[in-house]
Amino acid sequence: MPSLYVDGRWTASQNGREREVINPFDASVLTTVDEADETDVDRAVRAARRAFDDGDWAFGPSKRRAEVLRAVAGMLQRDKEAIARAETLDTGKTIAEARIDVDDVTAAFSYYADMTGKDAGRNVDAGPDAVSRVVYEPVGVCSLIAPWNYPLLQASWKVAPALAAGNTFVLKPSEITPLSTIRMVELLEEAGGPPGVVNLVLGDGATVGAAMVSHPEVDLVSFTGGLLTGRKIMASAAEGVKKVALELGGKNPNVVCADADFETAVDYALAAAFLDSGQVCSAGSRLIVADELHDRFVAELADRAERIRVGDGLDPDSETGPLVSAEHLAKVEKYVEIARGEGARLVTGGRRPDDPKLASGFFLLPTVFADCERGMRVVQEEVFGPVVTVERFRTEDEAVELANDTRYGLTGAVWTNDASRAQRMANRLRHGTIWINDFHPYLPQAEWGGFGQSGVGRELGPSGLDEYREAKHIYQNIRPEPMRWFRG
Ligand code: NAD
Repeated sequence: MPSLYVDGRWTASQNGREREVINPFDASVLTTVDEADETDVDRAVRAARRAFDDGDWAFGPSKRRAEVLRAVAGMLQRDKEAIARAETLDTGKTIAEARIDVDDVTAAFSYYADMTGKDAGRNVDAGPDAVSRVVYEPVGVCSLIAPWNYPLLQASWKVAPALAAGNTFVLKPSEITPLSTIRMVELLEEAGGPPGVVNLVLGDGATVGAAMVSHPEVDLVSFTGGLLTGRKIMASAAEGVKKVALELGGKNPNVVCADADFETAVDYALAAAFLDSGQVCSAGSRLIVADELHDRFVAELADRAERIRVGDGLDPDSETGPLVSAEHLAKVEKYVEIARGEGARLVTGGRRPDDPKLASGFFLLPTVFADCERGMRVVQEEVFGPVVTVERFRTEDEAVELANDTRYGLTGAVWTNDASRAQRMANRLRHGTIWINDFHPYLPQAEWGGFGQSGVGRELGPSGLDEYREAKHIYQNIRPEPMRWFRG
């Protein structure tokens, strides 16, 4: 079956090219999908343009848009197991996590279904001689570009609010992980809606993604992915002064104070760093631990890291899976070498597992580096793998200073039993999400996004909808008469 979706029809790419989709567990070929190029992007953008300009979707009743979103939420739960399985095969993540992802995607669709049509704008006091109101309209044609670590989840944080606001779009998942996104578009098709509102293209970033950003008929680009790609996208979008929303990387500090509950803090530090083999934008990959606790904490962390069961994501006994691709594994292994060269002390991991059953997959053991310094590349750059660095601090001020010493600013966490200290530190940390005595939770109702070079704009919450809306001020003079500014 063809795997691009343009103007309400499944279609092959114009050039007839295909790409193999690889299972990171054993490097086997799962399937092949169509590989688009600029011509397919042009077809998809033009279809989205026609569907938007026609106005039936964009400016029609909001109830219809809410119904589509709600229907998709229902179908996601109906097909949960199949979708989770596709996500696991494609990314390598455990099936338990993939199921949680499907629930979170469902929550995003439900939340934006509820938000649809809620905000009809507002009246503004313009005095007795005028009527003035602010209304919200969709931006237009959106290019939505997603990464490979949470393929469906990241796509849903764009697709659901874009549709709720009345936009039309062209969506591209990562070329490495297209399978669950294809399924989501099948559900959007089943849910109804005019042709051209939803379009899907597949292919690499340099060709297909770049064409989605530079196309003159695109009004908004929403991108989740790496910092370097984000910079390129921002530069290209500047040409057409397009609206841009960027969700980029993170190097997220996890600060453990001396008065924290030791066992809970270690347990969460483990999940923060090694969930999904650390391929999480908000991973707690930078541990900052109070001097008094440091040695005991590192020993316990390493001990527990060594007991993490690495394996096939479909095996319910596996606690974490492989890295997503051979190229990504090579990148993470390079960082292990860099860290050693910089003088960080390898406490555990840093190599592939011995188990012969995992030999053809892209596995790396959970890795802990101690004796790290703030200036090291492994402390400052996003590794995006199962690698955690540990620094130590002596005072609260020093902890805050270290935790803010990053070009990123996506998330940060503080562990302490002192409620005042928790609030003080949360107020001083410069990151888009701060967790106190927790790590990783996010809610569809609460904004998600980054300070600094972690991004521009916000997803989720009311701001996640605002990204896809233009505010329009309509002002009516109800006593029009000549004003005689010019007297002649
Ligand atoms: P990536 O930047 O390599 O690719 C992301 C997407 O952009 C892919 O679909 C890719 O094909 C496309 N792309 C690549 N080059 C492009 C170009 N020149 N023009 C347009 N599109 C292009 O990122 P990745 O490796 O897929 O994902 C990992 C990154 O995503 C990490 O840095 C991670 O932190 C980040 N991420 C951030 C968040 C967040 O919420 N802030 C969430 C998930 C992932």
